Amino acid sequence: MCSKVGTRPKSYEKTAGGLCCPVCATDEVSVFWEMRDLPLKCNVLCSTREEALAVPRGDIRLAVCHSCGFIYNTLFNASTMQYDAGYENALHFSARFREYAESLARRLIDKYNLRQKDILEIACGDGYFLRLLCELGNNRGIGFDPSYVEDTSKGNTYSNVAIIPDYYGEQYADRKADLICCRHALEHVPDPVGFLRMVRRAMGECRDTAVFFEVPNALFILRDLSVWDIIYEHCSYFSAAALAKCFSRSGFAVEAVTEEYDGQFLSLEAQPVTDRPGGLSAELGNPAEVVREAALFAGRFGEKSQKWADRMEALRRAAERVVVWGAGSKGVTFLNMMKGADLVEYVVDINPRKQGMFAAGTGQRIVSPEFLRDHRPGTVVVTNAIYTDEIRNAFGRIQLSPELVTV
Ligand SMILES: [Zn+2]
Repeated sequence: MCSKVGTRPKSYEKTAGGLCCPVCATDEVSVFWEMRDLPLKCNVLCSTREEALAVPRGDIRLAVCHSCGFIYNTLFNASTMQYDAGYENALHFSARFREYAESLARRLIDKYNLRQKDILEIACGDGYFLRLLCELGNNRGIGFDPSYVEDTSKGNTYSNVAIIPDYYGEQYADRKADLICCRHALEHVPDPVGFLRMVRRAMGECRDTAVFFEVPNALFILRDLSVWDIIYEHCSYFSAAALAKCFSRSGFAVEAVTEEYDGQFLSLEAQPVTDRPGGLSAELGNPAEVVREAALFAGRFGEKSQKWADRMEALRRAAERVVVWGAGSKGVTFLNMMKGADLVEYVVDINPRKQGMFAAGTGQRIVSPEFLRDHRPGTVVVTNAIYTDEIRNAFGRIQLSPELVTV
């Protein structure tokens, strides 16, 4: 899952102070947090430590729009981002995530009666979710993703799904669908309204097509201090209000925006319209709440950051072996943001494609859970609480019981 819908190069901060919200085009925008020198891509696979340490870096300066609640990185430069075969962001190696994806697929199939229909997925990654939708509903699928690499070892078991290794665009307007879905990609797009207008134009007159988008929930990041979700790749952060606003400005009527996955995701369902302004956006979400939380964020982040620096120092003095669980964006960002994180020797990941590689920016080797049988860590940093049970079970299987600490 993730990303890959990059569009034309764009930089927001052309002149000092001249900020303009990319969603609602007002200038009621204020900067509230900044972090320098983070890897441009957390999920890039680095095959040596040297390569991992030398990854290109960029700066994040987050601004919030008081009018629509949209948050974005004013220093983002899309010309530095290209997604290709070296980008790996699949989450479905986790049972908890697979469970969620499957129940979501069943819900969409039932709600939109997607049986023997055509499904189009933008930024489909390795096609896991698209195949689920097609297998569970006996549908035909077409996916687009520039980072897609065909896995020939599995044979051609999904003859009803085709994946095109390219960015989705208007050149594919002839591919009509009953459902267009796009999960965890819009947050990588610096001009979401421009992107959605392109999708809407490509849909043409297909007004029966259902549209489903899923993105990280900006309010969860601010409120629950899920700071590890702030990464350079994510130039756009959506609250419910801003997400609905994007769609209603792009020719869609918004049917619903809901929080999913313990509040970590926002999902949106919409229908294309041609003649009426879209849907529910006026009543959805509360931009003022986002602005309030954003104003508190820098202070809260500083406290959290200091707490972790102190904790790392105590573990260092105790000569404790510390590993981080998860080499996804959260784990890699924790290592890059946190003072004292050089204490961490290894990063564990259950995704076999990541094992043997090195964490972008900080260079720790990525190992399998089995590796820990001999390494025997005393403390394991868990970067997403939702996986705690799964991680405890994995340690049970190798008969270890280290302290699990959630960040
Ligand atoms: Zn705005």
